[in-house]
Amino acid sequence: MEIAPQIHRIPCVFMGERVAYVHLLIGEEFSLLLDTCCAHNPEQEILPYMERIGFDRERLSYILISHSDLDHQGGNEPMKAAAPNAKLLCHSLDRPWIESTAAIMQGRYLQFDEPHGLETPAEAVAEMRALTLSCPLDGTLEGGERFRLGPDWWVRVVNTPGHTYGHIALYCERSRTLLAGEAALWHAILDRDDRPVLPPTYCYVDSYLQTIDRLLEMPIEAFSAAHWPVYRETADIQAFLRESREYCWFVEEQLLLFGREMGRFRLQDALRELAPKVRRWDESGDGLLTFPFCGNLARLTQRGLLKEGKNAAGWVEWSLP
Ligand SMILES: [Zn+2]
Repeated sequence: MEIAPQIHRIPCVFMGERVAYVHLLIGEEFSLLLDTCCAHNPEQEILPYMERIGFDRERLSYILISHSDLDHQGGNEPMKAAAPNAKLLCHSLDRPWIESTAAIMQGRYLQFDEPHGLETPAEAVAEMRALTLSCPLDGTLEGGERFRLGPDWWVRVVNTPGHTYGHIALYCERSRTLLAGEAALWHAILDRDDRPVLPPTYCYVDSYLQTIDRLLEMPIEAFSAAHWPVYRETADIQAFLRESREYCWFVEEQLLLFGREMGRFRLQDALRELAPKVRRWDESGDGLLTFPFCGNLARLTQRGLLKEGKNAAGWVEWSLP
């Protein structure tokens, strides 16, 4: 689907009903693909889409990766192989996890296991690994770069940290379209039928809230993010952003109240007791609350409202200062 002149939005399906929208920008001189979804998605949707609209994959100039996550970078190796003239780029801060499947598995997906006494099932680990085919990058971005795609067509890279530190969005100046990735995550991630299936997996709360404030100030006329419908009304775009921010505050407040009630707790306690209160998605997605919870708990700790320590078993626990 073309959501603005020469900007195509391609739905990519993975893990059953999940969807990530990748974007293809086709200028007269240069072209750019934003994200590659998972290992199978170049072949399943991206390349067939290019063929359908008569775009020669050899003409692809750039592949930009919005951030390190398997449903955004997982197809890097097959996509680069299919479009060998394209330069593969991402923000420098996300580079280590984008270039190495082992590094993203350890640093992102399994990061909570050891410190919190959790155990990610072996089948889940194997599935995530299989969906993520990494390859070396051709270069890195810092945010602020402008790519010229045609005689009078420029798009700008905007660093939008929060979900990861190196998260980038892409802003088309002439159509005021923001390809937002997961810069803001609302109160749930949606599936292919727009059903809420996962919690918003923001991680670095101060950065996340600053990013949302920044986006609220930008002139945006079309907002196309990775797991949500396209929004075109200013009121809808602002509501999406404000609700993302308010949900993050709400979770933080719930964690603080929980800490005051319990006096001392572990991550599992918070997951078990608070999931029903904060859930705006299908129950099966509760496991990913580890990301936003640890983000908010780190911020509460940093502000001196909670204290982080370890129990006798060596697992992280929080208590009142
Ligand atoms: Zn995603």
